[in-house]
Amino acid sequence: MQKKSWGVVIVAAGSGTRFGSGVHKQFLRLHGIPIIEWSINAFLAIDEIGEIVVVTPGDTALWESFWKPPAGIKTISGGLRRQDSVLAGLEALDSSSNVLIHDAARPLVSSSIIRNVMKGVIDSGAAVPVIPIRDTVKKVTSSSLVSGTVSRNNLRMSQTPQGFILENILRVLKDADEVTDECAAMESAGFEVLAVAGEPGNMKLTDPEDLMIMESLSGGSMESRIGTGLDFHPFESGIPLFIGGCHIESEFGLSGHSDGDAVLHAVSDALLSAARLGDIGVLFPPDDDRWKGADSAVLLEKICDRVRGEGWRIRQIDVTVITDFPKISPIRYVMINRIADIVDTEPERIWVKGTSTNTLGDIGKGKGLGCMVMARIARRTDTAAIGNH
Ligand code: MG
Repeated sequence: MQKKSWGVVIVAAGSGTRFGSGVHKQFLRLHGIPIIEWSINAFLAIDEIGEIVVVTPGDTALWESFWKPPAGIKTISGGLRRQDSVLAGLEALDSSSNVLIHDAARPLVSSSIIRNVMKGVIDSGAAVPVIPIRDTVKKVTSSSLVSGTVSRNNLRMSQTPQGFILENILRVLKDADEVTDECAAMESAGFEVLAVAGEPGNMKLTDPEDLMIMESLSGGSMESRIGTGLDFHPFESGIPLFIGGCHIESEFGLSGHSDGDAVLHAVSDALLSAARLGDIGVLFPPDDDRWKGADSAVLLEKICDRVRGEGWRIRQIDVTVITDFPKISPIRYVMINRIADIVDTEPERIWVKGTSTNTLGDIGKGKGLGCMVMARIARRTDTAAIGNH
């Protein structure tokens, strides 16, 4: 088999079902990872695959806030019908002679299904993964009366990826009438399509309940870690006050080599600790002039890139600010939203609370501020080495 001769088109163009969350279902998160990236990671694990094109909804602004395509993944806007979207994806492939076409809504596709389909294409030129129907199939009239029982011996349910020789599917789809899937277009054009083994776990995300089933199906391969961070900085008059990446009106700020944002420093150390990637002092040494007066939000963004680069996703950040000034509860949600923005996760995964030392020590005398953070991160163990850059 020619190395890297396979291309993948992942169809994520659908915009109909949103489960009331405002997010297209293909960009919802499963264990903290966007649905679409589960498929991308599955295909990236196959050596012969050289390029991946994701067909997105036409309105870029609609999806860009939910998903940032990893480097090396091409995106292209879809068309009105599924087949127009697929065609746009096929035409965006540069270097492939064979193609796998996959629904973004099937995030749990396994490498064995992908391999089955690839082998089917090599043997027969076109292949579709199928699974048997387990339940008895009934015909029902419009008034809900059972009118017959259908033999399921010759019936199968089809899945994706469907695999084809690129030039064949391109030619067929260009001329096709309205079809349900690419396989149907090939069938009606007279091509043989081989049915290969799919898997029940390669389910399609259709209803909100499916997401829960998928969580439990895929949960076994998740690795979760916890890290803590602790930081203190003294107050100094005449400098701006930054905590949690927010500028607070004040006559004094936190002194330090950077902007002194003890909250973001503690978040940074908690994440680095959980990911075993060092600590903020090692990554951004205080004696390095590059970080003098540095914006801690920018440092934390760099740290999150490193953490994500190892395949981790942020599941929870719990922040305790130890101070009498400023009072935390009135600015809690401002800080939560700002931190969520910096670390690129949902605000629902973050909590911020304040406490005091009850007059004990220098913090109790108003000389400074401390912060303690617990962070929890998770990644799929089977994609850990691939990462999501
Ligand atoms: Mg610090």
